[in-house]
Amino acid sequence: MQLSRLIFCLFIFTFASLLQAKEITPPKNIIYFIGDGMGPSHVSASRYFHREQRPDQPFIFDEFKTGLATTYPDDNRTIVTDSAASATALATGIKTYNGAIGVDSNKQALKTLFEYAKENGKQTGLAVTSQVTHATPGSFYAHQPHRKEYAEIANWLVDNKTANKPIVDVILGGGTRDLIREDRNIAQELKTKGYQYITDINQVTQIKSPALGLFHPVGFPKAIDSDELRLSKMTQGALTALSPAENGFVLLVEGSQIDWCAHENEIACLLAEMHDFENAINVAFEFAKNRDDTLIVITADHETGGLSIGANKDYAWFYKKIAQIKASAEKISDEMKAKHKVNSIWNKWIGFELTKDDKKALKKVLKTDPDNLESAVNDLINTYTLTGWTTTGHTGSDVQIFSYGVGSEHFTGMMDNTDIAKKLINFVTH
Ligand SMILES: [Zn+2]
Repeated sequence: MQLSRLIFCLFIFTFASLLQAKEITPPKNIIYFIGDGMGPSHVSASRYFHREQRPDQPFIFDEFKTGLATTYPDDNRTIVTDSAASATALATGIKTYNGAIGVDSNKQALKTLFEYAKENGKQTGLAVTSQVTHATPGSFYAHQPHRKEYAEIANWLVDNKTANKPIVDVILGGGTRDLIREDRNIAQELKTKGYQYITDINQVTQIKSPALGLFHPVGFPKAIDSDELRLSKMTQGALTALSPAENGFVLLVEGSQIDWCAHENEIACLLAEMHDFENAINVAFEFAKNRDDTLIVITADHETGGLSIGANKDYAWFYKKIAQIKASAEKISDEMKAKHKVNSIWNKWIGFELTKDDKKALKKVLKTDPDNLESAVNDLINTYTLTGWTTTGHTGSDVQIFSYGVGSEHFTGMMDNTDIAKKLINFVTH
């Protein structure tokens, strides 16, 4: 630990001297995107899908500079991280154990990018499709030994203060369950501190900082089952609220549910989340492209699912079929169970036909093993589209870094996830 702190200080010092020597102006605004679970294959899959769906629009990731990052946690038993350890690394520049929220391996609080930003007169914001107390956003404002301590994580939104002001100025996502409790009402406490509080996402583009927007008890419904691009909307809202900040801002945007769909090995679900994430990046790109004071950095905390584009020794991946899937396996199987029908529900939501044998097999699952219907539907989708998965958990694959704007040249090549945070912290402290 002591050694990692020493290395951290040395890094900051060296990078700072480098900045001075080259007389680089740090960006005033930083927009930090984290695609939870977004490995390189997730991005490749999205590109093929994007070209099919929106051939006239550029794939936004391809407009950015690129790099790669390792993601391993501080644990000599494993190189595979969870979202808490990697988010802490991405928020503080220090590696820690799986499950840690903004604390090191000795459970001591680590100073986060948001804390550095507030100390330096910047505003901070977060927009996520999970609950705002989930591991990734939590690691930017809270210090808890375990990620599941949601109520305690929520408390930090009020109790973590800089100059007597709460640490996060704009808070957007799900999470009424964790913030509005019998023992404590964090939403009310923030209101008394001057926060605007909204619960209707259609109001999100009219908010002013400071503001709290909580739109669901926990996470948002899946993108594939909703009509709106909710992350894109929240990103627009956060940028509108934060852009007047005199000394600039740091905004965290997380595509939280890319990971959740990958845990379920569900490709259409994943690509719908990726589409919302891409669009949120487009919103930020539109904001940054005509300015000379903004940096966008996009990365992931780890890869989820061991996704492969092509499977079963076949040299193909049928993304056009995936484009014909209009609902999650959960929604489709629930409807099959409610109506005791298979074929008509399959055809209602999925644009390609099953073979006679597969129809029969699915009917049998509905009758004899309905609890497994969702995974049976999903398995068929993976088989028909040749989508492969090696795990329902995380993998140790490197993840990409994409960057654009002022200072983006510092995020290319091979890095570690902690280097990203160190560089961003250095920007906000200079
Ligand atoms: Zn995960």
